[in-house]
Amino acid sequence: GIESLADLEKLVVLGHGNSGTIYKVRHRWSNSIYALKVLRFSQDAIELHRQAACEAEILKRVDSQYVVKCHGVLDNGTDVESGDLCFVMEYMEGGSLHDVVRVHGQLPEKDISNVAKRVLEGLKYLHEMQIVHRDIKPSNLLTNSRGEVKIADFGVSQVMASAHDTDNSCAGTCAYMSPERFDHYRWARGENEGFAGDVWSLGVAMLECYMGHFPLTAPGHRPDWATLICAVCFSEPPEMETASPEFQNFVQCCLEKDWRRRATVQELLNHPFVTKCSTTTEELEEGLPG
Ligand code: ATP
Ligand code: MG
Repeated sequence: GIESLADLEKLVVLGHGNSGTIYKVRHRWSNSIYALKVLRFSQDAIELHRQAACEAEILKRVDSQYVVKCHGVLDNGTDVESGDLCFVMEYMEGGSLHDVVRVHGQLPEKDISNVAKRVLEGLKYLHEMQIVHRDIKPSNLLTNSRGEVKIADFGVSQVMASAHDTDNSCAGTCAYMSPERFDHYRWARGENEGFAGDVWSLGVAMLECYMGHFPLTAPGHRPDWATLICAVCFSEPPEMETASPEFQNFVQCCLEKDWRRRATVQELLNHPFVTKCSTTTEELEEGLPG
């Protein structure tokens, strides 16, 4: 594992999120490249820091080819209570699916089917470990040069969300949430939502890859809280005119508003949209566009 921040040389900023900054870093002794996520905590966020550290312990136990590996969690300095918390992660050189869609626009169905299959395998692994991701969205699905897609950022973002909660910052993070989670979110700040919420979010993310923008509200600007609730809880998802019947049905199965009737991860792994995905090794080597 990585023992100390001093062993890591920052090379470049990879991106900014709601909760912190991601750097590309080099390990001075092994020359290996990693991604470093730095979470900033203010003085009054001690409880939050404790929670994040707790989630980090879970993160270190996760080991799957479908999940971005966490190689260590480091505290910055001796003053744990006010310091930063740093996550050393597997470097995913292809960037996030959000980046891929912003650059290339809509993805072909064949690619979406491959992405869906890998994310479902990742969710199966996490759910079997009793971990609910709670923040599946294109920017948390990362790609590498082998064309593999892996799930990133579980748990942590959930902890962070309650700290920076204004209706504005929430519009980004909450846009992929299922209807039942909006219910909980309004009353109980999302304590009870279960595995079905991850399936909903997967459906929204796959629909976004197909449309090239967030699919549930009009493209262009960030929806406000009321627009979002309306779209998620009461509106029908957009038509997918050019999509195959299998893909249309797959999205319908994910976006079933009643979570008790929504398809499970295992059911979706057996869905024709996923099983028909016939990627050869050579095609995988070519990877996603970019
Ligand atoms: P949130 O704070 O809600 O998670 P976010 O996912 O956009 O929002 P970050 O998780 O901080 O924010 O990630 C920001 C960007 O950094 C990503 O979109 C991606 O481009 C890049 N990134 C994140 N993790 C890695 C990684 N392990 N390897 C390479 N790039 C990464
Ligand atoms: Mg993220």
